[in-house]
Amino acid sequence: MDNFITEKLIELKDKGLIRRIKKVHGPQGKYINIDNKDVLLLCSNDYLGLANDQRLKDAAISAISEYGTGSGASRLVSGTMTPHIELEKAIRDFKNAEAALVFNSGYNANIGVITSLCDRNTEIFSDKLNHASIVDGITGSRASLRRYPHLDTDKLRELLKESKSKRKMIITDGVFSMDGDVTPLKKITELAEEFDALIYLDDAHGTGSVGSTGRGTTEVFNIKSNRIIEMGTFGKALGSFGAYVCASTEIIELIKNTARSFIYTTSLPPAVCAASVEAIKIINNDTERITRLQKNAELLREELNNRGIDTLNSTTQIIPAIIGPNHDAMKVSERLLIEGIFIQAIRPPSVPQGSARLRITVTSEHTEKELIESVEKIAGALK
Ligand SMILES: *Cc1c(COP(=O)(O)O)cnc(C)c1O
Repeated sequence: MDNFITEKLIELKDKGLIRRIKKVHGPQGKYINIDNKDVLLLCSNDYLGLANDQRLKDAAISAISEYGTGSGASRLVSGTMTPHIELEKAIRDFKNAEAALVFNSGYNANIGVITSLCDRNTEIFSDKLNHASIVDGITGSRASLRRYPHLDTDKLRELLKESKSKRKMIITDGVFSMDGDVTPLKKITELAEEFDALIYLDDAHGTGSVGSTGRGTTEVFNIKSNRIIEMGTFGKALGSFGAYVCASTEIIELIKNTARSFIYTTSLPPAVCAASVEAIKIINNDTERITRLQKNAELLREELNNRGIDTLNSTTQIIPAIIGPNHDAMKVSERLLIEGIFIQAIRPPSVPQGSARLRITVTSEHTEKELIESVEKIAGALK
């Protein structure tokens, strides 16, 4: 074992893949403190600046006073408390869904839902750039897997046509976490109809961020289909923590009874649920925040493109700047930190080999000036 561990670490180091975890002092926000220096944060998923919002904090504090800190058990034992029920109602209403179930995190939701709805007799059709938690859920489900090239619905159609399986599930991110592009949901829904498949849509980065009122990828395409099972998270745009699945009452009933990552885990603390409820309330009443986020994303993309920086097909608040070699991406990120900007470099296996990048994200809270100045520094560092 000793040799195995040492050799593995050396291998990672040689490939430029050792990860160093940076410590942040104080709360999340558009400026964060790293090594006693305030730096502009351009890589967080706190897209609406809600992670340190006073209203969310008040909601959490008041839930702690009323319900305590821990939930004490799994939801199926004694851990279903009023805030869990309130959160499920709030997200169900927000998404205009028949039923909703809350999970402890997006990672847990993907593992739980996919293993619960798919088995050996299911064929899964998965976009090649889907999130790692989807990949792990698929592996755990033992379903047979066909991966299609990123966003390639022609290839997806071919695979669906070839399939002899009676049960088919198409799985896709709504907004792709490393590329910032959006799944062609209209076309995918048409294919699901044509080949009688279900769709599992992971909208971790879409919820609260895309669509004119932040309702996510389904709103971008104005699609409502009972073939879509939608998952999303509270830890990104909503500034809290945890995840939800929205689907028909019957599907939710099955997930509740069979998803191991729902059954065999202590449920979310009540304060976390209360903060999520508050976040949903805020974005329900304040679409201006979402509009600002979308405007900022557009501005940043345009400024980068004007300087010849390739941002792939991003149309959202996630904007990649492709670099290529791992060591180079790290160097650019380190250079920017010296200049007062924190953008994490993303390397394989989070992104395909040879496509290490800066994964830039904007929030509704950045100003035009901050973004324009950042682009100058990014362009300088890339040179
Ligand atoms: C972040 C993310 C998850 C995991 O969600 P957590 O709540 O952070 O565990 C799942 N899917 C996608 C696409 C994500 O980006």
